[in-house]
Amino acid sequence: MANEDYELVVGLEVHAELSTKTKIFCSCSTEFGADANTHICPICTAMPGALPVLNEKVVEYAVKAGLATNCSISRDSKNDRKNYFYPDLPKSYQISQFDKPLCENGYIEIEDDFGKTKKVRILRIHIEEDAGKLNHNEFTGGSLVDLNRAGVPLIEIVSEPDIRSSAEADRYLKKLKSILQYIEVSDCKMQEGSFRADVNVSVHKKDKPFGTRCEMKNMNSFKSIQRAIEYEKERQINEVEKGNVITQETLRWDDFEGRTFQMRDKEDAQDYRYFPEPDLVAIRLSDEYIDNIKKSLPEMPESRKQRYIKDLGLSEKDANFLTNSKAYSDIFEKAGTICKNYKAVCNWLNSDIARILNEKELEPEQIPFSAENLAELVTLIDNGTISSSIGKKVLDELFENPREPKKIIEEKGWVQISDENAIKEIVLKILKENEQSVLDYKAGKDRALGFLVGQAMKETKGKANPKMLNEMFLEELKK
Ligand code: ADP
Ligand code: MG
Ligand code: ZN
Repeated sequence: MANEDYELVVGLEVHAELSTKTKIFCSCSTEFGADANTHICPICTAMPGALPVLNEKVVEYAVKAGLATNCSISRDSKNDRKNYFYPDLPKSYQISQFDKPLCENGYIEIEDDFGKTKKVRILRIHIEEDAGKLNHNEFTGGSLVDLNRAGVPLIEIVSEPDIRSSAEADRYLKKLKSILQYIEVSDCKMQEGSFRADVNVSVHKKDKPFGTRCEMKNMNSFKSIQRAIEYEKERQINEVEKGNVITQETLRWDDFEGRTFQMRDKEDAQDYRYFPEPDLVAIRLSDEYIDNIKKSLPEMPESRKQRYIKDLGLSEKDANFLTNSKAYSDIFEKAGTICKNYKAVCNWLNSDIARILNEKELEPEQIPFSAENLAELVTLIDNGTISSSIGKKVLDELFENPREPKKIIEEKGWVQISDENAIKEIVLKILKENEQSVLDYKAGKDRALGFLVGQAMKETKGKANPKMLNEMFLEELKK
């Protein structure tokens, strides 16, 4: 049976680290990248007798996330203990939420594989604490525990199994990330682990009920999530084709090997013995509290998009591209405001910049240069200081070693040749060297002009002003 006879089903559990200043149950800093065990206290290291106090900001941020994803917000919610042992979890339980999550029954709209808008339902969003980190020492074989991350607040966003392809999963995750960034509750840096997704995958024949799911962990880029889903889909179809039964298990994705390995099967499925956290009071939210948060939500992608189309004259496609990522949208607005050429800024972003990011496997947030730099690049082209082909070289430099574009073109001697005499000299030289093209042009082959301009550009390594070249060639050819 062919692969087309099977349908893929994906459900995602996303953990996003909230960008509060302090941890969820103590006042330790949440800052990333500090020396090991410098952001710790008796509470987040689970000293006997230390008591947690819930950080109000965590509730506020989670409610924001719920509202921005069309969830209903529970007026009545609580924390629970999820019991398990692991060396990065000093209390031997994680404070999470079990049966009364803060947010439920939402959805996010994405584009499906046929270009139609589709709702991916969100089952729940709950708050919980992160665990510490184990640093394995390859040489001694030992592991060291760093508890800086223990107690950093997370929201877990659980989707319904509504996703049908790896491309849809990718769009869902990117949309979710952009929403969380727009409302400024998480910076969603996958490379720093502040946005992580566990991926549940099953396959079934199209006329049959859903298959058994496997859960994959340990993917740390959007690309590896897509690869992992494709791999797992193939693997499961092959198993079913062989007549084997898929058993529910947790798999670890190995990005280097490009395959999954079993972490645990259903036999060792953990019983977390959830029970209400006795050291914390219940969370009661008033309508007024929720309304106030609703009012505080910033401009969302949809409204930015409409503004770009109406006020700035962008196409729907361009507006979509920019607003799908807050990073793109922010740099676009800032650079556009400075150089006043919004269209050019948009073109740089959706062609060369997007391409380079893709080649380097970077996210838009990782653009290494500033909006000011981009605006200056656009202005230098607009006022004729450099040609757009030199502009591309400046962009490469901006990625390699960001500095002011003006400095770059000075250093490299890339200023455009716009001197009339210099242009004329080049034109005469090229005409002399390409007599056949001159004859062709005079015989009515207009294309010959393009060739001549191209030769002149080559001669000057892209530095000649193309408009002046064109005019000068026409003038000389008329003679
Ligand atoms: P657990 O805690 O066991 O991981 P959850 O209910 O938290 O269970 O998460 C289940 C996840 O699995 C959800 O994201 C859901 O959409 C997804 N899921 C459920 N059934 C299937 C299925 N048949 N195929 C793929 N994903 C599924
Ligand atoms: Mg799970
Ligand atoms: Zn602490």
